[in-house]
Amino acid sequence: MEVRPGVFLGEVPGVAPGATFTNRRELHDQNVHRGLVQGIAVEGSCIVLNGGYVDDEDLGDVTIYTGEGGNDPNTGAQVADQQLSRGNFALAKNFERGVPVRVVRGPQHRSIYAPANGYRYDGLFRIARYWEDRGKDGYRIFRYRLERTDSASEGESGTVRGGPVTPAPRRTSFVSRVIRNTRVGEDVKQLYDHRCQVCGTQVQTRNGSYAECCHIRPLGAPHSGPDTIGNVLCLCPNCHVAFDTFAFTLSDDFLTSHSKPLKLDLRTGHQIGLEYVRYHRACAGELPRN
Ligand SMILES: [Zn+2]
Repeated sequence: MEVRPGVFLGEVPGVAPGATFTNRRELHDQNVHRGLVQGIAVEGSCIVLNGGYVDDEDLGDVTIYTGEGGNDPNTGAQVADQQLSRGNFALAKNFERGVPVRVVRGPQHRSIYAPANGYRYDGLFRIARYWEDRGKDGYRIFRYRLERTDSASEGESGTVRGGPVTPAPRRTSFVSRVIRNTRVGEDVKQLYDHRCQVCGTQVQTRNGSYAECCHIRPLGAPHSGPDTIGNVLCLCPNCHVAFDTFAFTLSDDFLTSHSKPLKLDLRTGHQIGLEYVRYHRACAGELPRN
């Protein structure tokens, strides 16, 4: 999905896993990785594994990626602590949002999965988790565990240096749904400044405030709710789970069904479709009460 000119989250149209590129310029020109030097692309959309850090580990379909900053560009050794900013922050946000990251391997990458020359796009990886660590050189680093999205379930191993490059079956629809979700979800979270519409909680994390986007009529089959702002709520994780499991529902007046009803916080520009609220109540087994 193109989020601004030349910046794609998820797949780039026309670029399949296994595609090869002569150099960074070509990766840039084909919108795989904008930027010619950094390992982490704008919005954390792509990373290049090219031997930049001594702490990287690569197992093929799973790779442990070290964040950026604090290293000597000539030796790759850490000479200062990394900060949770810029590219590191973008990856942390993509972890929270479930946005997958394109992984490119380059010729300097110290791994049997590195191409002998040029750069190879190796598919979409999801960030399973990230953590703060002490690197081999003694400085703070951020590490990201990336798992390939399109082969983990197929049991396919990664491509080995010099071996055949077989693109794995792709799950494009899953990925584009996650990303589409992300945009609508971000809009509603911004509107409420990450404050829960039900209980008013604003969860604080190391990355700033955190909230979840909750679809009133669920997206997936058999519900097939739309991914529009009229079908989403900005909720804290607790209220999200409670709503999804029908611990409470909403009335047509946007009052919760708690024993002491709460009034949903509604801001200008957020018009919720009553049909979705009613659908949710019907799923909860309640009779229409309008
Ligand atoms: Zn809440």
